Amino acid sequence: MENITVIGGGAAGMMAAISAAKSGHEVLLIEKNEKLGKKIYITGKGRCNVTNACDFDEFQRSIVTNSRFMFSSLRGFFNDDLMAMIEEAGCPLKTERGDRVFPVSDKASDITKALERILRELKVRIRLNTEVKELIKRAPSNSDSEGSFEIRCEGKTGKPEIYLSKNVIVCTGGLSYRTTGSTGDGYRFAEEYGHEIKEPVPALVPLTLLENDAKDMQGLSLRNIEIRISPIRDEKATIYSDFGEMLFTHFGVSGPVILSASSYITNALRDGERFVLHIDLKPALSPEKLDERILRDFSENINKNFENSISKLYPLKLIPVIIKRSGIDPHKKVNSISKKERERLISVTKDLSFTITGTRDFNEAIITQGGISVKDINPKTMESKKVKGLYFAGEVLDIDAKTGGFNLQLAFSTGYAAGRYAGE
Ligand SMILES: Cc1cc2nc3c(=O)[nH]c(=O)nc-3n(C[C@H](O)[C@H](O)[C@H](O)COP(=O)(O)OP(=O)(O)OC[C@H]3O[C@@H](n4cnc5c(N)ncnc54)[C@H](O)[C@@H]3O)c2cc1C
Repeated sequence: MENITVIGGGAAGMMAAISAAKSGHEVLLIEKNEKLGKKIYITGKGRCNVTNACDFDEFQRSIVTNSRFMFSSLRGFFNDDLMAMIEEAGCPLKTERGDRVFPVSDKASDITKALERILRELKVRIRLNTEVKELIKRAPSNSDSEGSFEIRCEGKTGKPEIYLSKNVIVCTGGLSYRTTGSTGDGYRFAEEYGHEIKEPVPALVPLTLLENDAKDMQGLSLRNIEIRISPIRDEKATIYSDFGEMLFTHFGVSGPVILSASSYITNALRDGERFVLHIDLKPALSPEKLDERILRDFSENINKNFENSISKLYPLKLIPVIIKRSGIDPHKKVNSISKKERERLISVTKDLSFTITGTRDFNEAIITQGGISVKDINPKTMESKKVKGLYFAGEVLDIDAKTGGFNLQLAFSTGYAAGRYAGE
């Protein structure tokens, strides 16, 4: 019988297997794909933003769901521990803008290779192409006082395989990018033992918009803009605000600030709530300064039509939308544009707004929000409070964070805790 079996060879599962083996246990790692860490290969656009090098408080603030639950496992294995482990395994790292940490090689595969090297050194047994179908807790007997788990699997050829294990760590991931293997199996295993599942919803996901003029700007990327999200019923209230980059697409908007914003509204969108996206196109300029800037541009184009006088102020694809929304006649000569009209132009520039109608689906979601409720999980050990010897780690749990390397660290820290305490 195995002492510890880890189900799922993603970030959380590899780390759980490593820390369990480091604690002296014999470990079996079961993965249904033909290789480990399939999702890691596509992280950070193939470069893998493996963690974020910010301090502990900043890290906690970047967790969107259940940051208090994460306190203990992050303290036990934080970004510096992870970075040291990966570098010692032969993969040098570098820190970029926003404390984002990447392999120096810019190759996500080097992160997986480093983790595989450690697994090999620690002699973790790995079963690839093996899908866990059922997880059964057997009743205690004379020879097995605490009861063990029967793990029923199916090999690539459909051949059934059964493993027995004292402890099981479930690291099967969420529901996003299913082709990488995360198909929600862990939710089923947990539910069978009475765990509550918070409804999984796509997060860090592009947003769909109502207005058609958004589609006209498809392909337009905006830098150094500020966004603010408010509920449609109270446009003054702010649910989320951020500064950075975004992108218009054929369905709505995407890009870093939009993905991060999505995590704060995805649940409510599901419940039918609507939100407003406010874009400040010139956050560095107060309305007064912006007016001065507009007047300067107008004075340089004194005999031109309005539509031909604002190309310095806005990207080309934005101009028709700005003109339409400002209500200023595009053929009007700039020297006859009134102060009132300029005020409308300033208002549109500082608050170009769109109605958010929903999110794209799991196929485009960086992570899954929701999952196994943490109220029944011990935050120090990751053990189920309902079933002894059963542990959960990674995205399968109801934990998630903003973009920037935080989500992988959540998977690594919870995986490390589960491996460290399983079998104690
Ligand atoms: C496109 C994209 C880019 C991303 N970029 C970043 C980034 O740069 N930085 C960052 O921090 N986060 C990023 N993330 C998020 C991050 O990748 C995940 O949060 C993290 O990988 C979750 O790790 P996990 O081990 O919990 O789950 P997963 O990585 O999903 O691993 C689960 C594993 O379990 C296996 N499995 C599932 N069911 C079974 C079963 N029944 N039997 C056997 N095996 C099973 C799966 O095949 C899979 O290998 C990105 C995500 C995506 C989709």
